[in-house]
Amino acid sequence: HTDLAALFIIFGGSGDLAQRKLYPALFNLYRKGYLKEHFAVIGTARRPWTDDHYHEIVMTALDNFDEDQATKEAFVGHFYYQSHDVTDAKHYETLKALASQLDEQYELHQNRIYYMAMSPRFFGTIASHLGSEALLTADGFNRLIIEKPFGRDYESAKALNQELTQTFDEDQIYRIDHYLGKEMIQNIVALRFGNGLLSGVWNNQFIDNVQITLAESVGVEERAGYYETSGALRDMFQNHIMQVIGMLAMEVPVNFTAEDVQREKTRLFRSIQPYSPAEIKQNFVRAQYAETSVDGENKPGYQQETNVAPDSQTETFVAGKVMIDNERWCGVPFYVRTGKRLARKETQINIVFKKTGVNIFADDKSDRSAMAPDVLTIYVEPEQGFSLTINGKEVGQGFALKPDQLAYQYDEQMLADSPEAYERLILEALNGDGTNFTHWHELAASWQFVDAIREVWDADQTPLPGYSIGSMGPKEATDLLATTGAEWIFDP
Ligand code: NAD
Repeated sequence: HTDLAALFIIFGGSGDLAQRKLYPALFNLYRKGYLKEHFAVIGTARRPWTDDHYHEIVMTALDNFDEDQATKEAFVGHFYYQSHDVTDAKHYETLKALASQLDEQYELHQNRIYYMAMSPRFFGTIASHLGSEALLTADGFNRLIIEKPFGRDYESAKALNQELTQTFDEDQIYRIDHYLGKEMIQNIVALRFGNGLLSGVWNNQFIDNVQITLAESVGVEERAGYYETSGALRDMFQNHIMQVIGMLAMEVPVNFTAEDVQREKTRLFRSIQPYSPAEIKQNFVRAQYAETSVDGENKPGYQQETNVAPDSQTETFVAGKVMIDNERWCGVPFYVRTGKRLARKETQINIVFKKTGVNIFADDKSDRSAMAPDVLTIYVEPEQGFSLTINGKEVGQGFALKPDQLAYQYDEQMLADSPEAYERLILEALNGDGTNFTHWHELAASWQFVDAIREVWDADQTPLPGYSIGSMGPKEATDLLATTGAEWIFDP
């Protein structure tokens, strides 16, 4: 590997994301040799910590690594702490001085990555100060990695984007969606564009419907305060699910580069069929997990959780049917669902193919009900792999069709070296590759679609349907598919 030189300035260096994801990701890049001598990290947060205390925090974040202590200490030695109030201009001057000093000390060629790992309400403020206090360097690269949520609707996202673009150009902004860093989401592109067998049938002539499930088994946990202002539509659909749709449905990019991929995803999002308010009610379902007795124990419903309003209208589940108005996809529903407190934690994609025109094995050849559809399943997590379910003949006398699975599961050993999402994405940002980051145009289109749904929902104060903890959501989510004769393939 080439020795990448850069200074990371992490805003929110004492936070949960930094400790759970960013420090382990940086350590992985270090132990794999991407980062060697020429890097330094400034962690900033409000608290007045010493470098020594900060080192202990970073060290603790590396607990799960088997590496020897000396390697860890050498790594942690590159970390510096700066107590920082994001609204105080003076603090940026101190930060700038430290940055320049480290730049010289570690020979970082003025390359900087600014990582926003704190409350989104500060994203704009920090970016403005980075500009006004002149932290951006003249010679090296200056890249901004920005966490979700990027706004809470189109207008706020646009305002934030305007604030950021006063200091950073679009190609310096890396809007992170960690779903795009997942191995199997990356694999979608390989499956689609690396196989003649699949690329030939990847359209409405052969595909009946597409299903995306992002199921969580946990509830809101300690994030209720934030979740109350967000809900599943904003928290999961607007970003992760939309990006998965993008990867599954975009047209073939000219090249596998940021410019081409982002352009195709943008085009795709702009082709999503806009819904009238009546269509939204028909095609999007929201619900909340309800108090449920599990093994004789009463589990609180969403409205009973701490910091949740007892009459909260925040959805913890959303299912929807997304239609794409272009030549490739018109007529093919993309069914999506996500929710908390579902049967199990699993992200799965099912591409459901059309059945043959006639069933020559049935007395009534038009009766295709005994014939299961062929399904390509992509297991995103926790298992990773894919399977193709196709019909064969049941062994023995007589003739009955029986679905069989050609399955390919990545094993532990293969996955051991697979980079975690943050590790992959941080390295890509270091390399200046924005392919797996989100362009403003993608976000804008995705927010506009989501805002229309939000508006209809917010105007409707009827209590949300409930669903049992441990189920796969309310009955309405099943009915959504039934209208076209389809059913959810993933049914744990
Ligand atoms: P957190 O509350 O754990 O950390 C916030 C950090 O900001 C802390 O270091 C805190 O000291 C600092 N901070 C707060 N106010 C400050 C101020 N006025 N001046 C200076 N520093 C201040 O939050 P988090 O969970 O780490 O999340 C950070 C961002 O990452 C958020 O945008 C969140 O949506 C996003 N995110 C987090 C996760 C996760 O797993 N935690 C996952 C995806 C996205």
